[in-house]
Amino acid sequence: AAPSAPVPQAAPSRAPCQPAVFIPVDRTPEIQEARLKLPILAEEQVVMEAINENPIVIICGETGSGKTTQVPQFLYEAGYASSNSTIGITEPRRVAAVSMSQRVAKEMNLSHREVSYQIRYEGNVTDETKIKFMTDGVLLKEIQKDFLLSKYKVIIIDEAHERSMFTDILIGLLSRIVPLRHKKGLPLKLIIMSATLRVEDFTDNTRLFSVKPPVIQVDARQFPVTVHFNKKTPLDDYSGECFRKVCKIHRMLPAGGILVFLTGQAEVHSLCRRLRKAFPYQKNNSAGGEDDKEDSVEEIRKFKKSRKRRKVLALPKIDLNSYSVVPVDEGDEDRDIDSDDDAAGSDLDLDLGDGDSGEDEKSDSSLPLFVLPLYSLLAPEKQAKVFRSPPAGTRLCVVATNVAETSLTIPGIKYVVDCGKVKRRFYDRITGVSSFRVTWISQASADQRAGRAGRTEPGHCYRLYSSAVFMDFEKFSAPEITKRPVEDLILQMKALNIEKVINFPFPTPPPTEALAAAEELLIALGALKEPPTTGRLKEQLAAKLSCPISPLGRVMATFPVAPRYAKMLALSRQHDCLPYTITIVSAMTVRELFEEFDRPAVSEEEAAQLKGKRARFLQMQKVWAGQGPMQKLGDLMVMLGAVGACEYAGCTRSFCEENGLRYKAMLEIRRLRGQLTTAVNSVCADAGLYVDPKMKPPTEAQVTYLRQIVLAGLGDHLARRIQAEELLDDKWKNAYKTALLEDPVFIHPSSVLFKELPEFVVYQEIVETTKMYMKGVSAVEPEWIPALLPPYCHFGKPLENPPPSYCPGTGRVLCHRPSVFYRVGWQLPAVEV
Ligand code: ADP
Ligand code: MG
Repeated sequence: AAPSAPVPQAAPSRAPCQPAVFIPVDRTPEIQEARLKLPILAEEQVVMEAINENPIVIICGETGSGKTTQVPQFLYEAGYASSNSTIGITEPRRVAAVSMSQRVAKEMNLSHREVSYQIRYEGNVTDETKIKFMTDGVLLKEIQKDFLLSKYKVIIIDEAHERSMFTDILIGLLSRIVPLRHKKGLPLKLIIMSATLRVEDFTDNTRLFSVKPPVIQVDARQFPVTVHFNKKTPLDDYSGECFRKVCKIHRMLPAGGILVFLTGQAEVHSLCRRLRKAFPYQKNNSAGGEDDKEDSVEEIRKFKKSRKRRKVLALPKIDLNSYSVVPVDEGDEDRDIDSDDDAAGSDLDLDLGDGDSGEDEKSDSSLPLFVLPLYSLLAPEKQAKVFRSPPAGTRLCVVATNVAETSLTIPGIKYVVDCGKVKRRFYDRITGVSSFRVTWISQASADQRAGRAGRTEPGHCYRLYSSAVFMDFEKFSAPEITKRPVEDLILQMKALNIEKVINFPFPTPPPTEALAAAEELLIALGALKEPPTTGRLKEQLAAKLSCPISPLGRVMATFPVAPRYAKMLALSRQHDCLPYTITIVSAMTVRELFEEFDRPAVSEEEAAQLKGKRARFLQMQKVWAGQGPMQKLGDLMVMLGAVGACEYAGCTRSFCEENGLRYKAMLEIRRLRGQLTTAVNSVCADAGLYVDPKMKPPTEAQVTYLRQIVLAGLGDHLARRIQAEELLDDKWKNAYKTALLEDPVFIHPSSVLFKELPEFVVYQEIVETTKMYMKGVSAVEPEWIPALLPPYCHFGKPLENPPPSYCPGTGRVLCHRPSVFYRVGWQLPAVEV
């Protein structure tokens, strides 16, 4: 039902129950006309009545029906914002928070002082702000400061169907905050908005809401979309398949915009480049396409130039005695380290190799194609272009990541090309380190993507996979909270003083084992206070799942990294170790630094060559790092040295090739270091700490501190070499026992400590190939262990003849909690003094 009376700027009829206040908004006639076409406008009265009469309301509607842009305006007009109260809206994606605040400001003819946004390190909120868009993480932090959220009268949780971990937690928290505010006589309204996907997790959850909240369904005018499956599913080159499909559509099908779904920024740029080449659009005014040429093009040019020059010029020589680091990139400043779909991962994957060649890319006589990229990290001005109509005589083609699936609606799309893939974050079970992988989407996502084609007229969706493959997709993607380790979340919740996390009203609770494992790790790291060890076992366990946060935990909670790394950062404020720890943490987060271990070599020669390169690099390392403590930091010293040397040489592709380093990994580390430095600066600013992006090689003393810091952070990854007298089987020679695994493990042959075989080591991760191997190994002095991991073991009574390898120099015996350290070999014989 479309509203029939398009009277610009006139107030729609008001329901009698609405507050008497009506704040007029001065919209332009064009805006008003566009608004009236949105399905949600027809429901304004229903929506506002529900909100006025209920503390919690759920609004479901097709993407593009106007929820995000219009509901805040309804609330504003109804007087929900005033000088001391704001309308708050959370988005799981930064891109939506920024662009929606701009759009709403424009529609309402208000300035950014009044309609503002706040994302992790950036925002334009003022005292006058009436409508505030923010990421869900930002609101979570605000709750830590003011649990009742007293400066808000309404909170809107947008895109709840995405089930991001923070959104889920916010809904759980708000289900408690709303009744509390009611008791105080300062009612807070909660509005949950979602695409038309499974909302039962919210509505039918009695733990969450004792009274089932009303659900308002906004019907969108959705035109039929014809779905075309590929007969065959391309194995790898879905990007090339997208290119061919777009070319076909553009050459053969009637007018209408094309929206292509790819997985990441690099792919988006590469496809944009190919398409622009195939169907060039000569801009004749400033609004054209040239100026949004991706930044990487310039870099590619520079790289090609430098490659030519390299033949003439000698390679820059490495000065092994010093290195400096390029200052943090300006552009890196606003990137969250752990949110956004395509925010992390291989943003800097420049894919320099491809994109400029290929047979079918000669320019074509068809209509020009107006090609625009769209992804989270694209500058907002460039993002805004997709909402404008394309220049006359061209066809719009938007090449997007998942952001176009529900967060942003692009007008005029008639054809959707769906590669069927998405870049997702995966978590390493053992280390908790995350990485990005491209996987198949869910059926629900595929349908959302297809729906983008039918907004203004009947459309077509081309799925680049077969219907058989589609049938194998999971129906919905599981909520994020059930798929990842939760120790960082638990730490955040404890920082909110939610002690009994097991009782928290999660919309979908994480597995209990995941909660218990998280709690145990946090206790071991010292982030939580230890549970009492007396009392019955069951009570102990219960107590364990409700340990309060410790002062160290509070500090750790402020860093945007996993708790193990947060502890390392928290300790690194001593002895100026922060820049090194930041580098080590960044390097550990990035997959394989060395070419040699990244992939199987194609030939024996190549294998030998790569090995030679790394050997050369390690040789340099030895000279630079010496023996002693530097050597003992082991593989982490290698990481530090690789980054230092590479940055000293300007982090060029040629340096990396010459030394067997992965160029992409090095670029990624640089980016992460920038982000982490910014993050640490922002959390440590009140401590007066300043992190210099430039760093000299660490001193020997600093390396010793670093080794201790690493032990303190990776404490549960401690391993001890099986001693000769304990050897039961020869095949376990040189094997280690770890705290976490039953089976013995070995130091990976790639490790610099492979031959050293220190008695105690900490490792970054365990990989299983022919054997179980530890990677990222660093040597540990035994006497540090009780000092740095007190929850695991502590000093007991002095012994007259202590076993020398256990606590040299102290003359004291280590007592220990039986569980973990028994396996590592801390179980000392019961020596009678
Ligand atoms: P929903 O939240 O229900 O998915 P939105 O409120 O985001 O819907 O969008 C409603 C409509 O507003 C979209 O169909 C789109 O055409 C339009 N729109 C949104 N943002 C912009 C923008 N920046 N410029 C122009 N139009 C926009
Ligand atoms: Mg929306």
